[in-house]
Amino acid sequence: MSAGAGDGTRAVRAGLPEPVKYEPTLPGPVFAAHFHLPGEPVGPYTYGRDSNPTWTLLERAIGELEAPGEPVETVAFASGMAAISAVLFSLLRAGDAVVLPADGYQALPLVGEQLTAYGVEVRTAPTGGDAQLSQLKGARLLWIETPSNPGLDVCDVRRLTGAAHAAGALVAVDNTLATPLGQRPLELGADFSVASDTKGMTGHGDLLLGHVTCRDTALAAQVRRWRKIAGAIPGPMEAWLAHRSLATLQLRIERQCANALALAEALQERDEITGLRYPGLPSDPSYANATRQMRRYGAVVSFVLPDRGHAERFLGALRLVDDATSFGGVRSSAERRGRWGGDAVPEGFIRLSAGVEDPEDLLADVLRALDEAR
Ligand SMILES: *Cc1c(COP(=O)(O)O)cnc(C)c1O
Repeated sequence: MSAGAGDGTRAVRAGLPEPVKYEPTLPGPVFAAHFHLPGEPVGPYTYGRDSNPTWTLLERAIGELEAPGEPVETVAFASGMAAISAVLFSLLRAGDAVVLPADGYQALPLVGEQLTAYGVEVRTAPTGGDAQLSQLKGARLLWIETPSNPGLDVCDVRRLTGAAHAAGALVAVDNTLATPLGQRPLELGADFSVASDTKGMTGHGDLLLGHVTCRDTALAAQVRRWRKIAGAIPGPMEAWLAHRSLATLQLRIERQCANALALAEALQERDEITGLRYPGLPSDPSYANATRQMRRYGAVVSFVLPDRGHAERFLGALRLVDDATSFGGVRSSAERRGRWGGDAVPEGFIRLSAGVEDPEDLLADVLRALDEAR
């Protein structure tokens, strides 16, 4: 498809094979541990841990969204953490240094501990404020997560990537919150775009999946080799469901971003709320960076209610917003993030993910729940 096509057009056709008479538009999932393979054991399809036709179509689709019109390589994984671990563990050796976010996804510090145990020097820097710049000397990899989860800080990807490359470091961006329709890390200069496709990318809260996209074929080969070794492969059913879900990506993300902005604007007026964050809000500290590199600002809004009890009353009073973790789904969800203990957030901190409900219904439900929680 032409690189100039719109996001909706690209999303509905992404990764589809050429039409074949009597064949479906998107071929069904191929369930196979092994494939018929007489003679020399050469691909494309040999054994189910190495490759699968359903992954191939999904990987092509994701690549078309991450870098329209460019020849990139995508490797799909069983989860976002599998994708993240594949980049970090395939690239870093004992004696290397890596810069990780201090305020990133809650499982990232566990990965950091494991890297340290393997002799990798782990440095950390907060997402906002460019503190990464002073950590780059001698580093092999800079890892950034923007917007960050759950704080929604945004860093200047072009600036950090330029500085990292000048220092001889590669750059990986966790693009989970934005999705490729929100920002394209490779276009901004990054070497890897990595994401949990469990969230907005697939959007129905019914599967876990992840991916890594990069331009460099040698880096992609290392990541693919890691998948083979670790065996963190996606199931064909999940891969197919994900591909099917991508057809509605633009519709979902468009509505979710509009709902998130409407919620953020309404929440701004509430005096019981502090620390409201949404990168698309002109008053937000992330806005300047976000407008420079993001095409859409995401489904997640975060804010702080006065205390734990107040936050729990709010969550309990919601009818259209599920009290559940994760985000980016078609049904709105929210949670008191402090209940997990992994993030440095106040007790009343709420992460709310806007779904595709009608904006007036969603707003009314949230405002009513806030009134009841007072
Ligand atoms: C959820 C999430 C992950 C982990 O993804 P899984 O699919 O749950 O393994 C990684 N990074 C970010 C930013 C996330 O939100």
